Parts: sequence; C-alpha cells; structure tokens
Amino acid sequence: MKYAYSQNERVEATPKAQGICICCGSEMIAKCGNQKIWHWAHKNRRQCDTWWENETEWHRNWKDKFPKEWQEVVHFSDDGEKHIADVKTRNGFVIEFQHSAISPSEMASREQFYTNMIWIVDGTRLLKDLQRFTSFEHWQSYQSNRYDHANLRALPKRWINSSVPVFFDFGIDDWLYGLIHQYDPEAGNGPVSVTMKIDYLVHAITNSGAWQAQRVKLK
Ligand SMILES: [Zn+2]
Repeated sequence: MKYAYSQNERVEATPKAQGICICCGSEMIAKCGNQKIWHWAHKNRRQCDTWWENETEWHRNWKDKFPKEWQEVVHFSDDGEKHIADVKTRNGFVIEFQHSAISPSEMASREQFYTNMIWIVDGTRLLKDLQRFTSFEHWQSYQSNRYDHANLRALPKRWINSSVPVFFDFGIDDWLYGLIHQYDPEAGNGPVSVTMKIDYLVHAITNSGAWQAQRVKLK
C-alpha cells in the first residue's frame, strides 16, 4: 500500500519506517527496495483486504493523478464489510485500478460493494488484448468523448458484462477507451464504446467528485 498510519498521519513508506494498516490496524513495515515501488506491507502475513492487489508503477501513476486524501480510502458497507478503494472522492465515487486478472465473481462483488464506481484497466498486461486493440483500424481515428458502437469489438470481451463504466488504458498516447452500458436511450440497453483523453476524465472527476456518462443519441 502507498499509505499507512504513523502517529495518526497517513504517510508513505520510507526506509525503516513503521506504521499501522489503514484498514485492519495491524503493524506494517516499509518495503523500500530497488525492485518494486516503495510500499507498506503487513509485518505478519494476515488476511486484510482480500481484494487488494500488489501495486505496480501503473497503479501509482494513476492514483497520483488524484488528490492524496482521495487515495486508498477505506470504504464500509452497511453491514460493516470494509475494503480499501484505490480512489474515493469527496462524493463517495470510487475508482478501481485493475492490473491483475480478476474473476467474474470478484468483479461483480466489487461493483456491488462500491456501486458508484468506474474501473480503469491496464490494457497492456496481456499482449493479445493490446494486439487485438491496435489491429482494429478504428482506434486511430478516435475523437475525445465520442460514443459509438464501432469499437466495441476491439475491447477485451471479459469486461463486457460489467455493470459500471470500464476504461482501458492501452498506454497509447493519452487516451482511454471506455465500455459503457445502458447508455443509449434510443437503442435501449447494451454496451457502447467511448473514447476519452485521460486528462479530460481526471479533470472531470477532480472537479465534480464523480463521473457520469453523457446521455446522447448515437447516430
Ligand atoms: Zn491491513
């Protein structure tokens, strides 16, 4: 994790620092080596947040686009279940950055738990996803905030049933490629694709504390 509590403050890992987990309250040690990004790890291996995935530089770069106080926030459900949201805004809107593989059941659980959320997925992890996407001619003519059906087939199929917006970061310039459901009021329920500049999405969320797909009629 990027943050742990130390003397009641959220602090980043520095060599030999000690801290307390923001989620389970157990002891954390600072891992500050050369191989991985500096992070906090539980001193004793224990069950904390089972949804937590080891952070990559990709995670850190994304989190750091948002205010520090929104990064790694413990979110509670009514029945007391708790998980650490990668980003949770002042309005309770959650962004989950997903690098590793995730099972359909965990995907659904997380969407149900947070409800008001979007995914941002590392589209470069699987070469076949990236190749499929870049072989699709449409992606080159993408325009910001363009919604259509044309590019759906270029996006990884396993996310198509997601109940919340999913944005893929294929590491191509500064674009995101989104998959949004139940969006077109004319055509009825179903997925559409949207293209967006990373900065646009980040600014929209930072300014308003949330993000909602526009409802426009598709041609
Ligand atoms: Zn913990």
